[in-house]
Amino acid sequence: MALISLKNIGKIYVSEGVVAVGIRGVNLDFDRGEFVAITGKSGSGKSTLLNVISGMDSYEEGELFIEGEPTSHYAQADWEEYRKRYISFIFQDYNIVESFTVLQNVELALMHIDNPKERRQRALALIRRVGLESHIHHKGSHLSGGQKQRTVIARALAKDSPVLLADEPTGNLDSQTSKEIIALLREISREKLVIIVTHNFEQVAEYATRHVRVYDGSVEADERLAPPSPVQKSALTASERAGKDGFFATLRKGFTLGRVRFTAKPKLAFFLCLLMCISTIAATLVTALSGEMTEPISNTPIFSHRDGRLIVTPTGRGSLSAEELARLKETTGAVDSIRYDGLLDATNYLWFEDTRTGCPFIFDYDEGTKPDVGRAPQAPNEVMLSLPIGYRDLLGKESIRYRHLSDILNTYIGMDLEVVGVSYFYDNTKDSRMIFTREGFDLYSRLQMCRDHMNFYLQDDVMRQDDVSLYVVTDFPENSIGVFYANTYCTDRAAVPDTLRGLFSGGRDFYYEIVETPDTDQGTLEDPTLLDLSQCQYVYDISETLLETIQKFYYSCTLLVSPDLLMKITDSPTIGDGYTQTSFFYDNDQTAEKQIDLFRKAGYQAVMSDAVMKRDSSEVLLAGIAFLMTGFFWVASMLFIAFFLNLCSNKAMLASAGDIAIMRSMGISQRVIRVSVFVQTLLALLPAYLTAAAVFLAIYLIPSTNLIFRFLHFGEYFLIALGVFLISLRMAGHYVKRMFRVSVKKTLKGETVQ
Ligand code: ADP
Ligand code: MG
Repeated sequence: MALISLKNIGKIYVSEGVVAVGIRGVNLDFDRGEFVAITGKSGSGKSTLLNVISGMDSYEEGELFIEGEPTSHYAQADWEEYRKRYISFIFQDYNIVESFTVLQNVELALMHIDNPKERRQRALALIRRVGLESHIHHKGSHLSGGQKQRTVIARALAKDSPVLLADEPTGNLDSQTSKEIIALLREISREKLVIIVTHNFEQVAEYATRHVRVYDGSVEADERLAPPSPVQKSALTASERAGKDGFFATLRKGFTLGRVRFTAKPKLAFFLCLLMCISTIAATLVTALSGEMTEPISNTPIFSHRDGRLIVTPTGRGSLSAEELARLKETTGAVDSIRYDGLLDATNYLWFEDTRTGCPFIFDYDEGTKPDVGRAPQAPNEVMLSLPIGYRDLLGKESIRYRHLSDILNTYIGMDLEVVGVSYFYDNTKDSRMIFTREGFDLYSRLQMCRDHMNFYLQDDVMRQDDVSLYVVTDFPENSIGVFYANTYCTDRAAVPDTLRGLFSGGRDFYYEIVETPDTDQGTLEDPTLLDLSQCQYVYDISETLLETIQKFYYSCTLLVSPDLLMKITDSPTIGDGYTQTSFFYDNDQTAEKQIDLFRKAGYQAVMSDAVMKRDSSEVLLAGIAFLMTGFFWVASMLFIAFFLNLCSNKAMLASAGDIAIMRSMGISQRVIRVSVFVQTLLALLPAYLTAAAVFLAIYLIPSTNLIFRFLHFGEYFLIALGVFLISLRMAGHYVKRMFRVSVKKTLKGETVQ
């Protein structure tokens, strides 16, 4: 049985509607030990014949048998396998991977050797044999034609396959080099089948055992010149012994190849790396700008959660009395409580006018946090700020800045606060905090509640509410606990609700008499108590800055109260008949949860602070749409990044199509090549990730840049990395597919891969 047998083989080319005959009706048998010379005019079909034999080109007619097995049903993978096991191909224009060194080119054919050391030894021995030892580490692009062809021969030697095909191997070489190359071929060809296509029969006449002449696609003459070399049948070549690659062999080969390819083209590697770095950074920015991804569907919490916080309110009435609070605290074993805790759930916004920056912050009490500048708060009117590190450069360490901050705060807060310290943090996904002492927090909480439930009215304009604001001043002189300050805007009299009558009529505590005038022609107020503003003048000399602030921001009247008076007001049973809530604190959430039943049985409403809002169906729908839109935006930007990556790397990646075709001609499988392209991509991706991470880390750690953008949560970074990773892999896979769509032969001929 012949090694390779062609039965009536025909191959036609159709391009642009024109049909050209490559070969037709070819019947040839080839065996080991033969050294066949094929000659014929240009265009007679020699190359076509060789390409069909090598499996690099398909045939339309007849049947090609390999050791008796028909091949017309072969798929691409079968041809790959066939090339891997049987074929070494030597082209006229020396197809070596130009970016690889001589050594790497030869090692390419030795991938079946697992041990890298052994592989290197073999390659070096073969390179020595073709006389290239002085060029081992030279890149292919730096070699002369003869040296390239020697490299190809070393590669063919390395592969040690039973069939050696050479298409005008010396066509571009001078006669001296040609002679040497042919002699080398002869030397390695014993026990193999060698088929050489040549213009110059004389060159090979000395060795040829057979001469096939081709004319116009058909075999014109087939002449035996000498008996074939004797072949020991048992001697299997290395290629023949190589089995089909398993999963791990594919991975290993792909990894080796990918690594070599990555380092062989440092410019391409750098370019890919840069692209991926830009993509990663762009994706991160997009995500940072598009807000929290899951925000639209995540349930909205009603309260700000703290471990062990339980929120309690009496059913059907305003607020817990002081005694009630003490009793409940004891019976349920609470470790702490805040009677008016609305402040825990409030957020505010701090705007730095002169720097045009601002930040939302939450209120807190915390005796543990150490300030970076200044000291921790000690008195009720002292606070410490906990801000992102970016503000450090804005605020500096000067106390003058603090005073300035205090002013800003006071206009918002309504308390003569003093900022005594600032602590900074790096993670700007966290909230900024204004930290009171526990006592100060309680006080301000009460003030907040009080403001929500009390309205004062000016008689001139009874319909206007909130015209009198409440303001807590901590350093009233002894015996005085409040002052009603009216500015010029306020002309005559002001009305206060009935509920406050008891507090205001004491007289001694106040600098004003409250004049009761039951009849008011406005008719909208029920029995208001009117303050006579005609004698209104400020008796207590409150600080100039405070007055300025008040005048600037509250255009009408201000009731200044001492902390004591505020306590009295908020403790009075008539105050707070609106909704107020109280927080009880337990060791942890589990302990807190156990108290809920106890409270409910005693007639209170009780709910954990991690309770979330229940959504009705329309809200669910809206949330769903919002989520889809966010997701769509994110995916769209990812697609844009993919497009960008694709656009930039297209040429660069496809430029290596020729290299890949060479590897394919050697029988390196698509799977191995795909893995190698993945590895190449990953090798570019890793430094890209590291660089992007370093950039963000630097922005994070450098205070003046920390506020540039909102940092993401770990999961989001992971998602981005995964996104870029998948896009890259998808693209790499796509390239491989495209390159394999064009046949090896066409690619090597320089046909572009689209
Ligand atoms: P040779 O190698 O003997 O010079 P070829 O095998 O390259 O000849 O070509 C044989 C015939 O097939 C020629 O007529 C050539 O024009 C035609 N041919 C070869 N390759 C193609 C192709 N890719 N498309 C169209 N015609 C082709
Ligand atoms: Mg040709």
